[in-house]
Amino acid sequence: MTERYDPAAIEAKWQKRWADLRAAYVDTARSDEKFYMLNMFPYPSASRLHVGHGRNYILGDALYRRERMAGRRALNPMGWDAFGLPAENAAIQSGVHPREYTLGNIARMKEQLHALGLLYDWSKELASCDPRYYRWNQWLFLRMWERGLAYRKKAPVNWCPGCQTVLANEQVVEGRCERSDDLVEIRDLTQWFLRITDYAERLLAGLEGLDWPERVKTMQRNWIGRSEGAQIYFRVEALADPIPVFTTRPDTLYGATFLALAPEHPAAATLAARSSRPADVSAFIERVRRESRLEREAEGARKDGIATGIDALNPATGEKIPVWFANFVLPDYGTGAIMGVPAHDQRDFEFARAFGLPIRPVYRTDEGELDPAKMTEAAPHGGRLYNSGEWNDLPNGPEAVRRAVAWVEGRGVGKGEIGYRLRDWLISRQRYWGTPIPAIHCAACGVVPVPDADLPVLLPEDVQFRGVEGNPLERSRDFVDVSCPRCGAAARRETDTMDTFVDSSWYYFRFLNPKDETRMVDPARASHWIPVDQYVGGIEHAILHLMYARFICRVMKDLGLVDREEPFARLFNQGMITRLNQVTGKVEKMSKSRGNTVSPDELIGRFGADTVRVYTLFIGPPEKESEWSEEGVIGAHRFLNRVHELCGAVLALGSAPRAESGPADGRSAGGTPLGRLEHRTIERVTEDAGRFHFHTAVAALMEFQRGIAEALESGSEDPETLRGAVGTLLQLLHPVAPHLTEEWWERFGQKRSLLESAWPRHDPELALTPRVTLVVQVNGKVRGKLDVARGAGEAEALARAREDERVRGWVEGRTITRAVYVPDRLINLVVQ
Ligand SMILES: [Zn+2]
Ligand SMILES: [Zn+2]
Repeated sequence: MTERYDPAAIEAKWQKRWADLRAAYVDTARSDEKFYMLNMFPYPSASRLHVGHGRNYILGDALYRRERMAGRRALNPMGWDAFGLPAENAAIQSGVHPREYTLGNIARMKEQLHALGLLYDWSKELASCDPRYYRWNQWLFLRMWERGLAYRKKAPVNWCPGCQTVLANEQVVEGRCERSDDLVEIRDLTQWFLRITDYAERLLAGLEGLDWPERVKTMQRNWIGRSEGAQIYFRVEALADPIPVFTTRPDTLYGATFLALAPEHPAAATLAARSSRPADVSAFIERVRRESRLEREAEGARKDGIATGIDALNPATGEKIPVWFANFVLPDYGTGAIMGVPAHDQRDFEFARAFGLPIRPVYRTDEGELDPAKMTEAAPHGGRLYNSGEWNDLPNGPEAVRRAVAWVEGRGVGKGEIGYRLRDWLISRQRYWGTPIPAIHCAACGVVPVPDADLPVLLPEDVQFRGVEGNPLERSRDFVDVSCPRCGAAARRETDTMDTFVDSSWYYFRFLNPKDETRMVDPARASHWIPVDQYVGGIEHAILHLMYARFICRVMKDLGLVDREEPFARLFNQGMITRLNQVTGKVEKMSKSRGNTVSPDELIGRFGADTVRVYTLFIGPPEKESEWSEEGVIGAHRFLNRVHELCGAVLALGSAPRAESGPADGRSAGGTPLGRLEHRTIERVTEDAGRFHFHTAVAALMEFQRGIAEALESGSEDPETLRGAVGTLLQLLHPVAPHLTEEWWERFGQKRSLLESAWPRHDPELALTPRVTLVVQVNGKVRGKLDVARGAGEAEALARAREDERVRGWVEGRTITRAVYVPDRLINLVVQ
């Protein structure tokens, strides 16, 4: 009789053993076959991790273990994205210094990761708030400044009143701050930018070769927003220089009946002063500039505007068209000015209707020419051009655009241009807890870079956190008062700190030489280890982090620091874990604010980390949303109990252990039913684990466990075969349940860790099994058919059925209360 399964004792033993052996340590200077596994480094939050967070770490760890067993030198490091506002807000509220607060959170989170049996190479640990790390942000910034890739300019920027800082465009979601949800205002401020727009074309082209989810690539493409069109110069009577307008539809130039400018336009003040009613125009400009982005850009938002009484010249028609200021024109769209073509653009149409501006159609519809008086909305670009001089009768399409571009270029009133939605990356933040920007303001010399020898510019300690009254750094005399590095006169240190996305844009390089004080990256190691082979993290980083990392990687390549331009070869976004919310009665995303989280700490206490891991991986396709269930956890625990019992029973049979290399050594009784099951299981688990489909891998392992138990009971196999099969089970199960498997591997007499054992290989001949078609019913109605191996067990059939696209539609959002399984024939899911 085997003693009771005691996960607490087993897990403590193996976690200590792995730590003592430094089981995950990798010498990154060596250059054998590598596998770089990386989870996005987390922000060390004050709240405990819940099982929803745990999913991506467990997935990463399972893949890492599997790659090691496949013989690759796998690196799995961990660090901390440690700067950011929450620490500063905590300082304001509780008086704890952001550093102490952050380091405390790191210590707690590290314990939690450790308790899940996650194997990281902690010798590579780094934190972005460590001066040994952030000095290289500053160093890189100086190199970018030298090349004109970092610059300072006064520009209309997004201001979050809640966070008291500016935001990058990427951090504004539907007009609100993505962090605090406050309505974002537009303010004119002098700020630091990184010239990511120079890289727009390369960032776009590089997407092609990446093994990333298609939707992430699409989101990046849309964010870059490449569009071909033209810049057209409109002469304005009150101004010396024409106003340039970017349009993707230069072919509709004859239909432009007004010019509309953003109130932030550089010519706004001049135009207001020269307008027919300067006071009103200035008041309008001031008022709109205080409106939030959301009020201005939301679809269906009120179109507001004011005429200047000044005319511009439509270069195609030669007619005068009025110049307006309009709230819906945003300063960061194109040139901050648009040509209004109300007949064919809905926003322009609404504006023209609201203010009685002329509407001139230039594209015929199927019904023929349009009557502007009868139009109720803008007409699509379609049919052929009319009202358009020598372009008349050109069909809608690229040829019309090309002709229009050639026409404006020929007359010197415009030029073909590729426009991007992407704007330069605004990195200034008016907060304390970030990397100080290494610049000094001198009255005589202007803005002067901090010399390399003076790096790092350290965050000062003598800082008071009192609340929302600007950047705390401005009140630190020690920090602000400096002498100019160029002329020696009294000068002022820059107090803006960097957006924390600068920190996370290159950290994957730093894991390769984290302690190197002499250089930012080690080029030889970077060349060998980058790109990261498998990057795992949330879909919420589809644009910001991933775009910035791809940009900075290219900059580093251009600076000659590394020879790579894509940092992450393969990307995986895990699905969220949802749970029934007892209060609302709905299945919702697990989150602290909703109060429906499950803590892994408590589950580990009750069932052990291996159970949490098995269930988290078994819960469903990893890229999809999955619903947490208590019964599922208990089911996973029962499975591990059965494995434990089985190992004990087979060990008690005696006989010599089989060689470590598993069944591929030819000693397996391949011809027997158990031998066939063994080879089929190896085949399936190998295939599934490689693409993160541990849910079907676990289902196959459950079958395998049952198959061995049945063979043991019936006495149909000899002890040596049974021991061999159990050895294979332990190996295949190791990435999922590492502690229990290590324990039994050792009890079976193996001297080295399972991580050092070779992943079993299957014999395709032996794995071959006849296939059958399994009918899937939902509540008694046929909803799908599956191709499965003859003799497939219930767990496998159920897992496959739930995964089937057609069946999913019938069971999603409902609870499967029961499954009736007739082997090789049908499975009926009873759902509610
Ligand atoms: Zn905010
Ligand atoms: Zn100076």
